Amino acid sequence: MTKKWVYLARNVKEELTKEMGYEPNLVERKVILGGKGAGLAEMTSTGLPVPPSFTITTEACVEYMKTGEFPEGMWDQTLEALREIERDTGKKFGDPANPLLVSVRSGARESMPGMMDTVLNLGLNDQTRESLARLTGNEWFSYDAYRRFVTMFSDIVMGYSREHFERKLQELKDKEGVKSDTEVSLKGMKGLVAEYKRMYKEHFGEDFPAAPYRQLELAIKAVFDSWNGERAVAYREFNKIPHDWGTAVNVCTMVFGNLGEKSGTGVAFTRDPATGDERLYGEYLENAQGEDVVAGLRTPLKIAQLHEVLPDIYKQFVGVTQLLEHHYRDMQDVEFTVERGKLWMLQTRTGKRTAAAAVKIAMDLVREGLITKEEAVMRVRPEEVDQLLHPFFDPQAKLSAEERGDLLAEGLNASPGAGTGIAVFDARRAIELAGEGQAVILVRPETSPDDVPGMLVSKGVLTQHGGATSHAAVVARGNNLPCVAGCEDIRVDVERGQFTVQDTGRVVKEGNVISVDGGAGEVFWGQIPTLEVEYEKQKDLVELLSWADEIRALGVRTNADLPEDARRARQFGAEGIGLCRTEHMFFDPRARDAVVRMIMAETDEERQAALDEMLPFQEHDFEGVFEAMDGLPVIMRLIDPPMHEFLPSREELIEEVTRLKCTDPESPELAEKEKMLELVNSQWEVNPMMGLRGCRAGIMYKGLTEMQTRAYFQAACRCAQRGIRVIPEVMIPLVGHVNELRLEREKLEEVARRVMKEEGIEVEYMFGTMIEVPRAALTAGEIAQYADFFSFGTNDLTQMTFGYSRDDAEGKFLLKYVEGFDTGEVDPEGKPVLFQILKANPFQTLDRVGVGRLVKICVEEGREADPDLEIGICGEHGGDPSSVEFCHQVGLDYVSCSPFRVPVARLAAAQAALQYEYGRK
Ligand code: PEP
Ligand code: MG
Repeated sequence: MTKKWVYLARNVKEELTKEMGYEPNLVERKVILGGKGAGLAEMTSTGLPVPPSFTITTEACVEYMKTGEFPEGMWDQTLEALREIERDTGKKFGDPANPLLVSVRSGARESMPGMMDTVLNLGLNDQTRESLARLTGNEWFSYDAYRRFVTMFSDIVMGYSREHFERKLQELKDKEGVKSDTEVSLKGMKGLVAEYKRMYKEHFGEDFPAAPYRQLELAIKAVFDSWNGERAVAYREFNKIPHDWGTAVNVCTMVFGNLGEKSGTGVAFTRDPATGDERLYGEYLENAQGEDVVAGLRTPLKIAQLHEVLPDIYKQFVGVTQLLEHHYRDMQDVEFTVERGKLWMLQTRTGKRTAAAAVKIAMDLVREGLITKEEAVMRVRPEEVDQLLHPFFDPQAKLSAEERGDLLAEGLNASPGAGTGIAVFDARRAIELAGEGQAVILVRPETSPDDVPGMLVSKGVLTQHGGATSHAAVVARGNNLPCVAGCEDIRVDVERGQFTVQDTGRVVKEGNVISVDGGAGEVFWGQIPTLEVEYEKQKDLVELLSWADEIRALGVRTNADLPEDARRARQFGAEGIGLCRTEHMFFDPRARDAVVRMIMAETDEERQAALDEMLPFQEHDFEGVFEAMDGLPVIMRLIDPPMHEFLPSREELIEEVTRLKCTDPESPELAEKEKMLELVNSQWEVNPMMGLRGCRAGIMYKGLTEMQTRAYFQAACRCAQRGIRVIPEVMIPLVGHVNELRLEREKLEEVARRVMKEEGIEVEYMFGTMIEVPRAALTAGEIAQYADFFSFGTNDLTQMTFGYSRDDAEGKFLLKYVEGFDTGEVDPEGKPVLFQILKANPFQTLDRVGVGRLVKICVEEGREADPDLEIGICGEHGGDPSSVEFCHQVGLDYVSCSPFRVPVARLAAAQAALQYEYGRK
């Protein structure tokens, strides 16, 4: 028995099953029939009105490539399939009385834009053209179809460029003084066909092939040959597609939408792709072909209006779309044609949609019983959830702004959301203007804790320097403020109150309105209207995430420092606090003096007095956080940043001292400033990120972490006495050697016990450490003996593993590393080929190979030493979907992220769990 090379779309399933001995799945069907062929067969077997078609397999192409001949039996099978199509359509290929016309198109396993195009209207010659005219009653149409065919055949099958034909058409239009093809006269069209055939003969030295079977044979060979065409080979090289796959050939009955009133063509989505509402959304153009819709020469009808012009067709179409949704179990984007009152479906694919529509459609499909809850959870991308939590620019208005050339500069997408306001270059000024009711955008070279009050009253933040874990980015994310950081395209001049865009020289001064899109990392000139969102009101999203919670294995906590952030995070579904950065209280203006006195203290008494003053502020905040997190764990991270950050700026002090020395050398102010400068100098470090910070500060500054621990446990005990369920966890940062942890823990646990005794109440607590230094990860077995929990501080761990400064790298080189360097080569589509040193920014997406390896080693060795060890992550990666997946993979207990990323992490964690459960990864 000869091999089967050709499959009728309507018989694919049975015949393939017979051939293979089992029913192949869609992937296997694509291997044999190519993507397009498998799709046509799928639609046909669903019972849709699809023009009859057949597919010649990719295997036939592979055989042809070996010998340059059709494999044995293939041509006969092609003719047989053609007979079947003739039977289905009642037409005959090559029959002058009632001709069947077909399209011939390639279709590899994966869509390959570098491959051969489509040849339409194959089967036309002088005789069949005449019968087409007679059968349609439209002579002009028949000549138009014929000239299109000669053009496509010459170009695609024979390699005689279509430009020559297009030029002739243009000359004709000029001569007739018309603009569009459809206005060309019948006489003109007639002459054009004759001219095309003449050109063909002149070029090839023989007549244009009139015999339909010859046309078909040449077209099939051309499709096979196109697999090894220059463009296709280059495309495969570039996309690493194997050269031995081959392409299938699809032969499909032609249908025409331009055959009068009862004909037309349309495109539609089975649901509204913008809102997800259950209504057809699309357009229909009467008496037209697909390309006329794209050309936009006539205004199409709304799809619902099809009901008025062709009520029966509309009814049938609605039925078809329902069938499609049932079959594919998702919203579809379809193309169709009506030929003289008969509906034909030409294509269907999963429709693209907005984030809001993605959620609504997934939920509706569950309610309609079409998909499961698990599938719904997989249907929405975590990034889409992110979009639904932040205000965003009106897409149309943003596009117009781009077209107007108002995109000023691009930087790092440090915190999502969109904001518009006047540019302000100083935090105090921002507070002043916001107080007057102005919307402001705070623009700074970079931000420091002093800028926080100004940031909080702003609609957005823009910084010239700094990366994804910079101060500006972290504060903005925690407060749902749009932020573009590391925007090195601009030069911020605080003195003059302006910034200049490097490339264009455009200057933005205080008071000029700008707009920042923190999700895209873009800065615009002028105002762009924003659209607001509210989480609680998005009932579908809230329900979808509750399903995600049932599925996920990872816990989701939040990074929150203040009671208000904690409350918000809890509304978003946070199950505790994974990181409370306690130092914010040190920047509280009310405590500021005491902090400085604590650092300056020369005696233990002086220091203790200052610490005693600081304690109530800290305790007050802790109580608020425990209240907000009633019943959930709260991880308090002891002081971390270098001490100099709590002191005035060194540069400013030098400037003031110099000025006073010249203007008022005897003033007491000078003496005071000089003393402060001396102190600041004594704290100054060349490399503060690797200096006296984290547990090292706790160890070196007597009484400091004791005070924090006392404040924390006093708050815990007092809350517990009020009936609040507290679960305190103390976290010691930046440990690199087990002895650092031993020393700190012993000292602080002693404080905890003392406080509980004083307060007369016992609370259960844990002491643990951050894993932020590579050495800690590599010695996890030792460290686990003194820690009840680990939390990966992947911001610092990434910084120290790569040796990239987290505050400078993005602005200086890291973004370029990700964007890539020009190799001087171009890809098959003519775009420059870039060499990326890094595929993603490791401060945003956890580097699995390097940093991830340390994480894995640490988890394994930590758990080996203590199987009950609780392990989480609190670096910025805790809210990044890919990193969340990795955390699930290595078996962490939870991720912790800023409040607005909690819903994103919930979904990402559920998706990771599902992917593993189903063994897809
Ligand atoms: C970290 O390093 O990942 C971390 C969470 O701590 P911080 O960002 O405060 O240094
Ligand atoms: Mg850290």
